[in-house]
Amino acid sequence: MNSIYGYSEDMLKQYLISLGEKPFRSSQLIEWIYRHKISSFDEITNIKKDLIKKIKEDFIIDSLECVTYQKSTDGTCKFLFRLSDGNLIETVLMNHDYGYSVCVTTEVGCNMGCAFCASGMKKKLRNLTTSEIVLQVMMVSKIAEVRVSHVVVMGIGEPFDNYDNVINFLKIINHPLGLEIGARHITVSTCGLVDKIYEYSNFDLQVNLAISLHAPTNEIRDKIMPINHAYKIEKLIDAIKYYIEKTNRRVTIEYILISGLNDTAECANKLCDLLHGLNVYVNLIPYNEVIEKPFKRSKKEDMVNFFDILKKRRINVQLRKEQGGDIDAACGQLRSKHMNK
Ligand code: SAH
Repeated sequence: MNSIYGYSEDMLKQYLISLGEKPFRSSQLIEWIYRHKISSFDEITNIKKDLIKKIKEDFIIDSLECVTYQKSTDGTCKFLFRLSDGNLIETVLMNHDYGYSVCVTTEVGCNMGCAFCASGMKKKLRNLTTSEIVLQVMMVSKIAEVRVSHVVVMGIGEPFDNYDNVINFLKIINHPLGLEIGARHITVSTCGLVDKIYEYSNFDLQVNLAISLHAPTNEIRDKIMPINHAYKIEKLIDAIKYYIEKTNRRVTIEYILISGLNDTAECANKLCDLLHGLNVYVNLIPYNEVIEKPFKRSKKEDMVNFFDILKKRRINVQLRKEQGGDIDAACGQLRSKHMNK
């Protein structure tokens, strides 16, 4: 039985056509599922009974079991969900002044092996299906009773290592009759799977791209991000340039500040050299320490110094305000804790 949440409008249309039905019924279905948030197909009033019966044979309206959630004093809420096969995933809801944003997980575990990251301590067991990613947004919105306006694909997993399901997810949450999350309000973050960045550049939705760069040189990046052995920084920058050319969109560069590793004035200057002339926005992120890892967060004055150098050299930059520091907000920490219990 297929989850209805895994079906984009095109797929629903194909399904309806295969039954000899009018394809426009896909719009009706989408409205019922995502606007009225029905939990049974029997709640649908404008589709004839025998078609409903057929749909019920082919699809289920499923959900995710919420195992626990932790609420931070700043309003950030972290959810632990259990999938139908028993695997656990994390989803985070953030309350910003511009609206509610959900951070979704795309894989059970992660194979990218970034040295500083808690997610990678558990190897990837499988990709999430499209419906499991869509359901995270649905469930969080239902449980917290909020309208989600923004989505960041920055939870556990490497989205471009589960490319097709993530693309399908983006189409579904963007649908104007469904969750209607604007493409400009969606950001996909990658550690730098260069081939997929090229592919994503040609994707027809105007969705944002963020790159986890975290180092200005191959020497440093090699030490903390194994993906850098496959795609060197120069190749990554070429792909970023291509994306900007193709889409005319600004790229976010994520840079976590780790004490003594990538936070020196020399690193800041090298980063400016690397990004000079590119339409990018640098997000400096204080490192969230992970007990099992040796890395330490940069000192406040080093962070400010780093920020000032970028500012002076006219790079668009912000020092990210932290959220959820009191609730294991670092990627994979809640899941990891729960699994170790
Ligand atoms: N795999 C994707 C998306 C998931 S990680 C990617 O690499 O972009 C989302 C972001 O959180 C990445 O920039 C990642 O490097 C960063 N991150 C991972 N662990 C962190 C930690 N302990 N503190 C701060 N940022 C962290």
